[in-house]
Amino acid sequence: MGHAQYIRPENLGEALDHLHRNGPRTKILAGGTDLVIDLRSSPARPDFILDASRLPELKGIAVTPDELSIGAGVTLAEIESSDVLQRYAPALRRCSRTFASRQIRNVATIGGNVAHCSPCGDTVPPLVIHEARAVLASKAGRREVSVEDIASGPYACALPSDEIIVRFILRPASDITFADFQKIGRRRALAIARINAAAMARQEPDGKISFLRFALGSCTPTPQRLPEVENHLIGRQPSPKIIWEAGSLLAERTIAITGRRPSTVYKEAAIQGLFVRMLAPLVTT
Ligand SMILES: Cc1cc2nc3c(=O)[nH]c(=O)nc-3n(C[C@H](O)[C@H](O)[C@H](O)COP(=O)(O)OP(=O)(O)OC[C@H]3O[C@@H](n4cnc5c(N)ncnc54)[C@H](O)[C@@H]3O)c2cc1C
Repeated sequence: MGHAQYIRPENLGEALDHLHRNGPRTKILAGGTDLVIDLRSSPARPDFILDASRLPELKGIAVTPDELSIGAGVTLAEIESSDVLQRYAPALRRCSRTFASRQIRNVATIGGNVAHCSPCGDTVPPLVIHEARAVLASKAGRREVSVEDIASGPYACALPSDEIIVRFILRPASDITFADFQKIGRRRALAIARINAAAMARQEPDGKISFLRFALGSCTPTPQRLPEVENHLIGRQPSPKIIWEAGSLLAERTIAITGRRPSTVYKEAAIQGLFVRMLAPLVTT
């Protein structure tokens, strides 16, 4: 890592003071599972590494009737063991189970996963279905942005260098009857996703879907919802045919964004297959 100076502020105020003075010359370190690899492979060296892993303001998971708040410094292991998330953000909790290895989950944070802006970041589709906002802090104060707006493209973080992600605010899942996260990787374990997706839905006693959120990752420059696909199912009793059509629409719309590539032959079928597999439990007719 060259001669970067390591700094470990005691609190958020100290961290923001440093970023205000030295933001462009500083890299924020959380669990380091992406950053250390990036530093090894990049010729550019920051002058400072600011260790945010112990900042108390970035910790904790809390819920009110309107909001679910997850600190940017919460680790994937904490997500995995959270009963609050099992109840209010089950797709997010489910994603933690297949995330890397136990050792990585013990240190990797949700904030680092989002800020790294990989199209394959596993926590992003679950955050997107909850319409999550990131609370950002700088010396100038606080502001909120949609999680979808943090990446301006693959591995391109749109945040100014004097800002830090403090927390994520999600709409808690209420009255949902279904939630899932699934991913396809090259291997069963320790695999970065080639396709990942999160969904949550409310199905009425007559089988009609009254609420649905679905987000796809790894396929487009940044993970995203496709409202046309959700609208294809909302208000209907899903049959295998309807789910299949919605999966086909998802693959078609995704390819319209990315254009046709050599991998499209595989991805087109895999996107539709993943969608059909995920939403199959909603079939009633
Ligand atoms: C073997 C291996 C397996 C992996 N498997 C998976 C997987 O299954 N799924 C997956 O999604 N990822 C996976 N990853 C990638 C990585 O573990 C995750 O992206 C992780 O969540 C990154 O979090 P971190 O705390 O380690 O971030 P760091 O590496 O510390 O930081 C990542 C980036 O985010 C910035 N950052 C961190 N915190 C903040 C903050 N609060 N505010 C602003 N910027 C911040 C840093 O400056 C840096 O640019 C894997 C990595 C490895 C090495």
